[in-house]
Amino acid sequence: MSDEVEQDGNTRDEDRMSESGELNTSAYKWCWGTVDLSDRLVWNPLVAEMVTASSMMLELWKHVVDPSLRGSLAAGFAAEDERSTSQVAAFLAGVSRLGHASPSGMDSFGRGQRPLSLLDRVRGEWQAQALRAGLPLSGAVPRSRQADPEHITAAVLPRLTGCDCADYVDGEQCHDRDHRGLYVAAYALNRHRGDVLHADTVAKAYRATGGPGWDAIRSALVNAVARHVGIDPESLPRLVRPTDPRRLTALGRLVAQSNLLSGGGTFREFASPHDTLEEMSAQAEKRAREAVARMGGAR
Ligand SMILES: [Zn+2]
Repeated sequence: MSDEVEQDGNTRDEDRMSESGELNTSAYKWCWGTVDLSDRLVWNPLVAEMVTASSMMLELWKHVVDPSLRGSLAAGFAAEDERSTSQVAAFLAGVSRLGHASPSGMDSFGRGQRPLSLLDRVRGEWQAQALRAGLPLSGAVPRSRQADPEHITAAVLPRLTGCDCADYVDGEQCHDRDHRGLYVAAYALNRHRGDVLHADTVAKAYRATGGPGWDAIRSALVNAVARHVGIDPESLPRLVRPTDPRRLTALGRLVAQSNLLSGGGTFREFASPHDTLEEMSAQAEKRAREAVARMGGAR
């Protein structure tokens, strides 16, 4: 975390959100990341898993990723140095699941889990509390408005990381050369299988992003990850200037690994939406250190 974040540690994060004009509530903490009915757990906040993915990336970077790959990613981002590359990689790992924060994503709470009576009850409780906290749940989502969360991430991320160009709709890529890296990175994040994400797919996903209420939720999630990592999301155009999308293939693999290690199913205890972001950050760092140490990577 940055010095700025630590100095500011006494202020409640909700207050800071309102000062920055982003969001006046902690509604974003009510987005779920994992639902598990098997034990006393029930659901883990998405933001807790997102910041854990960032910490996992930082630990992998320090202890597991080999120097030649670190150098190649630094070149892929056209980054100033490896330290800023690791921060950008951590930020991108954290926001890679952003697309889950959508009407259809949230509507699929616990889908496929049993017993149904328990699922109905816990989903009902979650919905009531989330609505009260200000999460813009809309109930049943039309099939035409559903999309793969990974595609939603690609559709919304550039706009939340510095592209403010007017007149580009439905996830279209702008023509500002300084913003090209944002699009390349957003498209590469979840492409660890080497397939290419088409503009049509992104445009379709854009229609499933929900209204301005959801934009505010996703903006708050991006800010939470940025604060955890210690970077300004608006500085991304300067930090991410990839020259060739193929150089970011390795990024997709590392992001997938970070997400695998940070899913709620990996931990015995879930975070609470009432936890402060500082508590979630501290927990994320601890879990990442322990997980990577267990892999035998940490020295
Ligand atoms: Zn732009």
